[in-house]
Amino acid sequence: MADEFDVVVLGGGFGGYTAAIRASQLGLRAALVESSKLGGTCLHLGCIPTKALLESSALYHRLHDRGAEFGIRAEGVTFDFERIARRRDGIVDQLWRGVQGLMRKNRIEVVQACGQLAGPGAIRAGERTLRAPAVIIATGSEPRSLPGIEFDGQRIVSSDHAVLANRLPASVVIVGAGAVGVEFATFYRQMGSRVTLLEALDRLVPLEDEEVSQLLLQSFRRAGIECRVEARVKGARVGDNGVTVELEDAQLEAEQLLVAVGRAPRSSGIGLEEAGVATDRQGFVQVDGWMRTTVPGIWAVGDVAGGFLLAHAAAHEGITAAEDIAGHRVQPVEQNLVTRCTFSSPEIGSVGLTETQARARGHRVKVGRFPLQAIGKALIHGEPAGFAKLVADEETGQLLGAHVVGVQATELIAEPALARLFQGDAWEVGRNIHPHPTMSEVIGEAALAVDGAAINV
Ligand SMILES: Cc1cc2nc3c(=O)[nH]c(=O)nc-3n(C[C@H](O)[C@H](O)[C@H](O)COP(=O)(O)OP(=O)(O)OC[C@H]3O[C@@H](n4cnc5c(N)ncnc54)[C@H](O)[C@@H]3O)c2cc1C
Repeated sequence: MADEFDVVVLGGGFGGYTAAIRASQLGLRAALVESSKLGGTCLHLGCIPTKALLESSALYHRLHDRGAEFGIRAEGVTFDFERIARRRDGIVDQLWRGVQGLMRKNRIEVVQACGQLAGPGAIRAGERTLRAPAVIIATGSEPRSLPGIEFDGQRIVSSDHAVLANRLPASVVIVGAGAVGVEFATFYRQMGSRVTLLEALDRLVPLEDEEVSQLLLQSFRRAGIECRVEARVKGARVGDNGVTVELEDAQLEAEQLLVAVGRAPRSSGIGLEEAGVATDRQGFVQVDGWMRTTVPGIWAVGDVAGGFLLAHAAAHEGITAAEDIAGHRVQPVEQNLVTRCTFSSPEIGSVGLTETQARARGHRVKVGRFPLQAIGKALIHGEPAGFAKLVADEETGQLLGAHVVGVQATELIAEPALARLFQGDAWEVGRNIHPHPTMSEVIGEAALAVDGAAINV
């Protein structure tokens, strides 16, 4: 009887442990199987340690390169990478203990083992077989490389290696200008490394609005990051002192190559095929809006189920799956309501459709833009580069998408995201009374600009 539950979750990352907590809150007996550490990629190799590193690099860059601008005389500013790494690890450790406490508080049985589906309603975890009428797959994803380029953890690294490194490369080539690539480019450059960023498509952050990509490119070039778009990497050779990266038309030398070309779902070898769970061509588990797979009794959430590979999306999907299992009538997950965040400098926050996507879907659109240059708080921060751009339906005024690039963009995007959840109009966002002087004013002004009514331009 001890191994009978209402829900068994496979994978204890942000998606999995959130699902387990919500299930337990709803009165379900939940077990969670985790092969490594509770908290998963986000806590140990992703969101948290990278942002801890970026906090140190931003502070160092401000004092070392920009102190005089703020009237601060800070001569001989240096860094101690060991302490930066220790701070990173300390934050991760504190949060990890917090997640373990949450499991105890919510009476979730955590089984430390590599698990797999073993027939309907069963997960084999080491010696044990855990049975439940509902199973949630939350096994996450892992870094992909390019054909012919293998990670060695020293010269050719993935984000997993880079985030845990205890020393800094003097020079680095980064392949892939998605969120992970541009965040590491920011970090290394702020710390003083020589950075070359390569992107196969024709712009940085290709999933974002085109104008956001343009601004990021300008900012990165100004910061001294060498950016090459439409750059196709053919191979990489490791030598005694570094790595040679071969492009179609050039060779680049650097101490390290960071490959950040995306992630692959951890969906093979866990019994999905045998259970008849359908996956797409890339291996992501196919789910509906309630995170139900093609097999009754099996749900999948987080990175393994595709969509936006973001921690808050994983957690939201976990909550949705748990509520669906508990029999609640719950709204399906809508990818268009997921906020996207990139912690580069400048930051990027976005939600909903880009202008191009909105037009492609047949909307006649009106667009409001407002530059950070006209926002007092942005000048006070010393960060006038950037803008907010709101895309609305011309006829109804409904907010279709919001795009912010600049300092604190990842915080600012929460407001238009809420407006979209409420199916709000751009006009309503403009009527919200934004505190002054704050960065949030840029959202209010961009919303007013949708109808040509921005005040401070
Ligand atoms: C460098 C980097 C930076 C990122 N920064 C951000 C950010 O700032 N904001 C953001 O929203 N997202 C960020 N992400 C993405 C975020 O980390 C993921 O979207 C999130 O971790 C997905 O959560 P998950 O629960 O689906 O999977 P994971 O966090 O990957 O968790 C899956 C868990 O399942 C376990 N597992 C796998 N297979 C088995 C098995 N067979 N048996 C038992 N356990 C198993 C794994 O050990 C792991 O703990 C970042 C990612 C990276 C790589």
